[in-house]
Amino acid sequence: MNDHYYMKLALNLAMSTNGQTTPNPAVGAVIVKNNQIVGMGAHLKAGEPHAEVHAIRMAGDHAKGATMYVTLEPCCHFGKTPPCADLVIKSGVKRVVIAMADPNPKISGKGIERLQDAGLQVEVGVLNEDASQINQVFTHFIQTGLPFVTLKSAISLDGKIATKEGKSKWITSSEAREDVHYFRHTHDAILVGVNTIIKDNPSLTTRQAGGGKSPVRFILDTNLRTPIDSKIVSDGLVETWIVTGSNVKKEKMDLYKNRNVHFLQMDSPKIEIKTLLKEMATMGITSLFVEGGAEVLGSFLKERAFQQVITYIAPKLIGGRMAPTSFGGEGIAEIHEALELVINEVKKIGSDIRIISKAM
Ligand code: NDP
Ligand code: ZN
Repeated sequence: MNDHYYMKLALNLAMSTNGQTTPNPAVGAVIVKNNQIVGMGAHLKAGEPHAEVHAIRMAGDHAKGATMYVTLEPCCHFGKTPPCADLVIKSGVKRVVIAMADPNPKISGKGIERLQDAGLQVEVGVLNEDASQINQVFTHFIQTGLPFVTLKSAISLDGKIATKEGKSKWITSSEAREDVHYFRHTHDAILVGVNTIIKDNPSLTTRQAGGGKSPVRFILDTNLRTPIDSKIVSDGLVETWIVTGSNVKKEKMDLYKNRNVHFLQMDSPKIEIKTLLKEMATMGITSLFVEGGAEVLGSFLKERAFQQVITYIAPKLIGGRMAPTSFGGEGIAEIHEALELVINEVKKIGSDIRIISKAM
């Protein structure tokens, strides 16, 4: 077995915890001696032991002289737990293979240095791209201080998100809709515009087979039009924030008292997307899933305020000049002004296809 084989195992461990470690990265570790696995671990939750700690505990004395495969550079600072680099050294591991360095520019390379200074053999960069993909949210948040934003839409083959009467249930297959729940599960927060609440009355919770973690819910609602009896206001299932402009009076907000909602009132009459993202970051939100509708997606496009676009395309034709397409807003005049993305993945899901594209 080679380094790639064991690193792939470590990456699979990391990937299986996607969404549950926030605001920490997802990390996996595998300890191997004489081509036998003697320890494995994944970081499960912020505040709990790091992947290396679990793997070293499992390996015990077998760690002596072994190789550790770890998807992220071992930490070298006292956070909620003591530094893993020191523990790795103490365990007797003699070689450490690392997929990616720590993305935090302040500490990147320091854990590697500490291992090398202690005489361990260190290799960095094995399956680096896979590790970067798994930790795209963590890396973005650490480097920009803003949540990683994913825009999602479900469209017909002719790009429509609803009929001319605004009906959108259901454009895509049940398999595609189930798939969306995985992304709700892995994002810290979800956001829609008030029109989507009024028209569709969605609950925006995660309902996937086997359960899941529901994201904190946000509604963009400048003048507070969210119906008091809408599900997200009354179901009490998940923390919910209504974002309003500065002109909404306190008395109006008081009507929602004793309901399951918090208010986030902007200083400006309109809701500025970039200001909102900064607010969310201070609330500890590292990733945001934007589910529409068209006007909201149009605003995120205009501000270039996203990192990833997930599009489900159903083999249906809706037609109609009045039926909305997925991105609204004012639009552009020239083709060269269009925002170019790169396609990261194309996958068939049920009878539909899912395209994941990234902002460059
Ligand atoms: P949205 O759900 O996008 O809501 C838009 C409203 O949000 C605006 O009119 C505005 O109302 C409020 N808002 C507040 N701040 C902002 C901001 N910064 N940028 C944009 N909007 C802001 O409405 P749409 O009418 O575009 O879309 C609703 C339709 O889309 C429905 O028919 C729904 O079924 C469909 N849909 C389809 C989806 C799909 O994937 N197929 C997904 C989601 C919706 P105000 O000024 O009052 O604040
Ligand atoms: Zn650590």
